[in-house]
This record gives sequence, structure tokens and C-alpha cells, in this order.
Amino acid sequence: MKKSPFDLSYQNIDLDSKIVASLERISQAFRVLLWNESKELTMSPIQIQILIFLLNHSEEKRKVSYLAEEFNLTKATISDSIKALQNKKLIRKTFEIEDSRSYTIHLTANGRRMAEQTSLFTQQIQSPIEKMKFTDKENLLSSLLGIIHSLNKSGIINIQRMCFTCHFYNNIDKGNEHYCELLNAKLANNQLRLDCEEHILALGVE
Ligand code: SF4
Repeated sequence: MKKSPFDLSYQNIDLDSKIVASLERISQAFRVLLWNESKELTMSPIQIQILIFLLNHSEEKRKVSYLAEEFNLTKATISDSIKALQNKKLIRKTFEIEDSRSYTIHLTANGRRMAEQTSLFTQQIQSPIEKMKFTDKENLLSSLLGIIHSLNKSGIINIQRMCFTCHFYNNIDKGNEHYCELLNAKLANNQLRLDCEEHILALGVE
């Protein structure tokens, strides 16, 4: 039987388990920081996440169905959060001419201010990263992108806008070098993107 990474007698002698348990601790830190922010602003964590997403993504992604996929939630849950944000005058909707049920979501001036402020909630996680050596950061980013790509392939993370799933991405030298056909340039490890506005899903990637 497979051993649990949380079984200490196993975790303490197994590098993979220590990494899994460390990632779990870090995800807990994100939850705590987001929760603290949401208590302070009397908003739910998902409302804060939606505001930050709207601030940083283009119009075609600012729709209920896209947000539902992005956050792995039902359209009904997202619609409830959108309604709450609208009641707080933080967002407004523009309806499609052909389909009056479908709409795009925009931040109001207040919503933008709130999103800019709340998007700094990760500062305490960023501080220790800023102190790391550049090569350590590069290696960490490569490893994390590899894990995220694998979770995307197995369907645990829904939407990806990363280089590895992009139509414009090419790997050369057996994956040791990366190339973007759109930018017409080689990408160093630290230039690989996790969330790219120009990303187009490659054929055969779901
Ligand atoms: S378009 Fe963006 S996601 Fe696609 S390969 Fe180029 S940099 Fe990466």
C-alpha cells in the first residue's frame, strides 16, 4: 500500500513526501492570508479572488462561465458572488446584444481600487522568495511549472495559460530550451510564463 506523505515515520525519510507536505503548508498560508483579507473587507475569499482576476485579465475572460472554470466552481456560485460585488458597487455588467443573458464583467473605479489593494495579500509569501538566490528562484519556478503542467494534464487544474500548453510554444534540444513562435524568441527558464495574455491553447491540449 502507498504511504501517506503525512505519515511522519515515512515523511521524515522521504524527500518527495517532505515536498508534498511543504506545498500543503504553503497552500495553507495562502488560505490564511486570503481569509484575513476577506475578514477585514467583509467579503468572501472568492469575491476577493474574482476582483483580482478581473483586474488582471482581458474582457473575453471576464464572463461567468470562464470564471467558473478558472476557480473550479459552479456558474451559480460565481453568479452569487458577482451579484454581491454588484450590490457593493465594485463591478458592473455589460450585456451581449445577441444574447441578453450573457454579460461581461467590469470593475468600477471603486472595484479597481479595492482589487489593487487586495492583490497585495500575498506580500508575506513574496518576501522570503525575494531573498532567495536568482538560480534557486529559477529552479523553483521550473519545478513548480512542471508540477502545475502535470496537474493540468491530469485534470485537477482546469484552465492553463502557461507556455507549456500554448500553441506558440516549442521546445528545442529535447526540452532543455524553450521558444515562443509569437515573440519569435528563445525563452530562458525565468521567462516562461504561467499566465500569458497571448496564450492560445495548443491543439490536443484540453
Ligand atoms: S504566447 Fe505566451 S504562453 Fe505562448 S509561448 Fe509565447 S510567451 Fe508562452
